[in-house]
Amino acid sequence: MKVIFLDLDKTLIGEDYSPEPAKPIIDELKRKGFRIVFNSSKTRAEQEYYRRALNVEDPFIVETGSAIYIPKKYFPFSFNFTKDVGDYFVIELGERYEVIKKILDELSKKFGLKYYGNSSIEEVMEFTGLPRQLAELAMMREYSETIFRWKDEWFIEAVKSKGLKISKGSRFYNVHGNTNKGKAAHILLLLYSKFFGDIETYAVGDGLNDFPLFEVVGKAFIVGNLKHPNAVNINSIEELLEVIE
Ligand code: MG
Repeated sequence: MKVIFLDLDKTLIGEDYSPEPAKPIIDELKRKGFRIVFNSSKTRAEQEYYRRALNVEDPFIVETGSAIYIPKKYFPFSFNFTKDVGDYFVIELGERYEVIKKILDELSKKFGLKYYGNSSIEEVMEFTGLPRQLAELAMMREYSETIFRWKDEWFIEAVKSKGLKISKGSRFYNVHGNTNKGKAAHILLLLYSKFFGDIETYAVGDGLNDFPLFEVVGKAFIVGNLKHPNAVNINSIEELLEVIE
């Protein structure tokens, strides 16, 4: 049994945010027998959009390890979860959005910060290049903020001094609670192991915020030029299909 964790921005999804180019990749991973777990800084609403577009029905990890969404009938045994939301059991690991926004609102003036919570949808579209429909989904935040612009790099230290974590994704900084993509993946892998016994684990990412994820899987791949001791570099997600069975 094989599980693959996929980052979205600049890994599975390119500059134009279209799910179309990812379709053949997802279909081939399914044909090879992979369970496909999105593990991204994107929100639940954004990831549900890509799950529908790409017919992915496995669990998913949102907002940089802040919560694991598990479809209710996915594991045939009970496990501890934080809340029951619609079709999912949710394991929460991060901080509530309201807490994060309050801290950033206090720091925003001094450091010239712009993020979803103090931007209009037009500004979000300009900062991110997201089309309006996806910008709306990105603004439905539950556990983290994304810093698009800052006047002073010291905001990073200021955010940390308030007890929050900050990590660098492909495009921007992400502010979240005391969690990361690897911590959430590890917890989900414990559930997979309980169900399937021996499992083969894979991950693909492109950013520094994917590094904790590379620590908890057997085989890791980096799209692009960053270096990590556990990970193999590939030029594109298409190349992944040539190097895995
Ligand atoms: Mg990325």
